[in-house]
Amino acid sequence: MEIQYNRKMSSLFIISAPSGAGKTSLIKALLQTNVNLSLSISHTTRQPRANEVNGQDYFFVSREIFQQMLKQGEFLESAEVYGNLYGTSQHWVTETMASGQDVLMEIDCQGAQQVRQAFPQAVSIFILPPSLASLEARLKQRGQDDPEIIARRLKAAREEVSQVSKFDYVVINNELEEALQDICCIIRAERLKIMRQLAKQYALVAQFS
Ligand code: 5GP
Repeated sequence: MEIQYNRKMSSLFIISAPSGAGKTSLIKALLQTNVNLSLSISHTTRQPRANEVNGQDYFFVSREIFQQMLKQGEFLESAEVYGNLYGTSQHWVTETMASGQDVLMEIDCQGAQQVRQAFPQAVSIFILPPSLASLEARLKQRGQDDPEIIARRLKAAREEVSQVSKFDYVVINNELEEALQDICCIIRAERLKIMRQLAKQYALVAQFS
């Protein structure tokens, strides 16, 4: 069999979770390890929260600008979540992957579905809270949102979890450290897959041929 070598075979990881599953803390902890992933910064029409920085947490844009970008085909995927629009820059993802860097996207289930269609090789991970009660407690503890929004997020959580079987992996976020290790293991195993190893270790394999 002839082996097709493609040295820049980057991986695309998607992480989705219901709001309050602890995804943001997990991703923050993940990026502080030596995992070497580039996080995609989404565009959103949502108002920034108190601690959020434009260009770091999101690119905060008006609905008008977002719609314009959408029309111009600038998003790889986009979705309306809790009444706000979110989208991932097509250009950034393709450029980053073309440079050989692995990409991490933190997006909702609708977006994950669109990305899977565009990149069937994308690796998707769903984060589950240990229980519905813990999810509710976390949403309330955060103190970031009104009770009405919390109720909306709980309803949406049920819908999100109904999509779980479409994902490649599920990680339960009971203990942050354990969940972090699980995600690191997934990333490591994916990077060791034969097609990626052949792409990266072509010189080593060639020594034996
Ligand atoms: P939050 O407003 O709490 O930061 O995020 C709300 C939801 O939007 C989360 O489920 C988050 O994963 C999702 N989200 C954030 N960025 C994107 C994006 O670019 N695309 C999609 N489809 N969802 C996103």
